[in-house]
Amino acid sequence: MSDRAAPVVLVAPSGTGKTTLASRLIDGSGPYVFSVSATTREPRDDERDGIDYHFLEPKEFADRVNEGWFAEWATVHDQMYGTPRSELDAASARGEHVVMDIDVQGASQIRASVPGAKLIFVLPPSVDIMLARLIERGTEEPESIARRLESAVIELQAVPDFDYVVVNDDLDECVSKIRNIVEQQELPAFHEQDAEQMRREIVELLKGYYNMYRHDSE
Ligand code: ADP
Ligand code: 5GP
Repeated sequence: MSDRAAPVVLVAPSGTGKTTLASRLIDGSGPYVFSVSATTREPRDDERDGIDYHFLEPKEFADRVNEGWFAEWATVHDQMYGTPRSELDAASARGEHVVMDIDVQGASQIRASVPGAKLIFVLPPSVDIMLARLIERGTEEPESIARRLESAVIELQAVPDFDYVVVNDDLDECVSKIRNIVEQQELPAFHEQDAEQMRREIVELLKGYYNMYRHDSE
């Protein structure tokens, strides 16, 4: 997997702003594309099939699991969710970063199976703000909010497993932090410095060799 096309996994407790962040990344100038997951949950009012999610019946979802159609899948808040393999393959072929908004179980499957994936945990600025955002979004019934908070307790335990943690306080700042993580390509730069250092050391070594050779042949 080339760094140019590294998949980006965003994980966050519900209400943190993951979906908003993913949209902002995709609307920006860089080569980012949203991974359209499949789910068995009902569409929300503003959601369109094939754009926000592929909405599947439970039987259809289970069949696709058996066919190996998913790169990862998990049961989240009593519903099934999964990333179609085709989403990753298509983005990689086009050299685009596929942005996955998935839960911690899915993230650990991607960590194990997709080398080079950038796994980023997004934290809310505070629990109060997270709850306020969830309530203000106005999409969840009180029981659904409680279920999402229960999941948050488990999800937050996974933070130490993540290479990167960002806080979604100011939206623009958070987007640019994520872009830096994905685009800075630290590893190749580090290796480049190593290679240059080695090259210089070899030049010095060779000078010694040439001197020795000259003395021998004189
Ligand atoms: P998630 O996908 O993590 O459940 P959403 O992206 O749906 O969360 O965001 C939850 C709510 O918080 C939405 O109403 C969204 O507009 C708002 N929101 C997201 N990020 C920020 C932010 N940085 N500052 C203020 N409000 C935000
Ligand atoms: P929502 O129902 O609010 O859209 O999503 C609920 C949860 O399911 C979120 O934590 C979201 O990240 C997760 N989710 C969405 N798509 C996928 C997916 O394809 N795989 C996994 N494992 N989780 C997903």
